[in-house]
Amino acid sequence: MPMMTAEQYEESLRRLNLVVYMFGKRVENVVDDPIIRPSMNAVAKTYELAHRPEHEDIMTATSHITGKKVNRFTHIHQSIDDLVKKSKMGRLLGRETGCCFQRCVGMDTLNALSIVSFDIDTKYGTEYYKRFLKYLEYVQQNDFTVDGAMTDPKGDRSLPPHKQPDPDQFMHVVEERKDGIVVRGAKAHQTGAVNSHEIIVMPTISMREEDKDYAISFALPSDAEGITYIMGRQSCDTRKLEGGTMDQGNLLFGGHEALVVFDDVFVPWDRVFMYREYEFSRQLVEQFAAYHRQSYACKVGVGDVMIGAAQTAAEYNGVEKASHIRDKIVEMNHLNETLYCGCIACASEGHKEPSGTYCVNILLANVHKHNVTRFPYEISRLAQDIAGGLMVTLPSEKDLQSPETAKWLKKYFKANPDIPTEHRMHILRLIENLTLGTAATNYLTESMHGAGSPQAQRIMISRRINMQEKQRAAKRLCGIE
Ligand SMILES: Cc1cc2nc3c(=O)[nH]c(=O)nc-3n(C[C@H](O)[C@H](O)[C@H](O)COP(=O)(O)OP(=O)(O)OC[C@H]3O[C@@H](n4cnc5c(N)ncnc54)[C@H](O)[C@@H]3O)c2cc1C
Ligand code: SF4
Repeated sequence: MPMMTAEQYEESLRRLNLVVYMFGKRVENVVDDPIIRPSMNAVAKTYELAHRPEHEDIMTATSHITGKKVNRFTHIHQSIDDLVKKSKMGRLLGRETGCCFQRCVGMDTLNALSIVSFDIDTKYGTEYYKRFLKYLEYVQQNDFTVDGAMTDPKGDRSLPPHKQPDPDQFMHVVEERKDGIVVRGAKAHQTGAVNSHEIIVMPTISMREEDKDYAISFALPSDAEGITYIMGRQSCDTRKLEGGTMDQGNLLFGGHEALVVFDDVFVPWDRVFMYREYEFSRQLVEQFAAYHRQSYACKVGVGDVMIGAAQTAAEYNGVEKASHIRDKIVEMNHLNETLYCGCIACASEGHKEPSGTYCVNILLANVHKHNVTRFPYEISRLAQDIAGGLMVTLPSEKDLQSPETAKWLKKYFKANPDIPTEHRMHILRLIENLTLGTAATNYLTESMHGAGSPQAQRIMISRRINMQEKQRAAKRLCGIE
């Protein structure tokens, strides 16, 4: 089955035996749980669009290992064109779902591993790349969604892994066997974890020799014995339990994150892609981070939704012709398209690695992600400005249905006489959802911390800038030898 449909994807999740907890209880039916379901719908969109002829070019690719058509989320970039299409795919899906569609983390992990496993083999004569390609074929053949698991809980941030009072704060190997290794630890903030078939673990920071037990990368089925998922909460999440079609803002889609605990889990050798080669952990972190920083084209698609919502709110409020409103909409578009420029630029300036995989320009990917830590906040500020205070003081949908209160809400919340009050309430709830509700988890805080907090990009920018070249240019012009 080289490419699943959305329905087949849903059915495949039903066959998993995940151990998931939420609100202190085991979730028996993960797929139909009303809090989790919108996030499953968002991943399902990545399967659905791959079957639409108008999106085929962006959503699918030809596998370099089998020559078959595969979903681009399982593809290893073979050209600059692939990198550019990846950015376009992110924007498309962000606009379709208005939230995080979760599947990019796994794609970025596969691509980073295709480079680093090759480079480790080149240095040590190991066979990680061969194992990786076999695993990749398995992922492509089954069209799996993969959770890319990098972030450890990290305990005391001032201490390296081996100095932590609790050694499990970073994922590590606790036993080496003939047939594989046993690992212990956890991965925090895992996007789309319970919508995934597979999970690939990577180290979270550069490691030194003393930390070599922590320098490991491996893949497991998401329902492997010993793995437990504890769902994260998102602001306003329980609105999804209330029914109705208004108060949750985005009626169809959402994202989720989870803490994933690995309690002495066995990994067979053919699923191990890095084992104690500590000096490659930095490269793996940087390569994954660069790909994932490019992936934030998704925020441009969500920005499209936000701008569309702000313009609609302005029209419903009757202020769309005011000069300052027009100017604010232009500013929102300027910021959003600047983000788009960044993700296209780092793709267009990509290069071929020794393994044959194309990698983005790492400096530009970091500059792009650094802009992502800022611009969505400004876009959100402008959207809230245009929407007006009602977006946070609106009574509930139930009050709109109650005979005692409906007439007052319809009367007093009407603005543009041509627009039903219900429509105005819907659009304001969407802006609330994106800037303060469940979707703000991904549009705002994930923009800040996901794929690394701002300081991580500043460090990379300072490492990658060619300062001598700039100084030479300046000195030459003013006559300094
Ligand atoms: C919504 C969301 C989804 C995510 N999805 C994924 C995912 O799918 N997979 C995944 O692996 N990760 C994921 N992440 C994790 C993300 O990569 C981390 O949040 C990010 O790397 C920051 O780590 P942290 O949250 O532990 O914060 P911290 O590391 O605690 O950082 C908090 C602040 O402290 C600073 N700081 C930290 N350590 C030091 C230090 N030693 N010295 C000085 N300053 C320091 C940071 O710069 C930052 O300003 C996600 C995060 C979010 C918010
Ligand atoms: S935040 Fe964006 S890049 Fe990250 S997984 Fe979600 S959709 Fe993909």
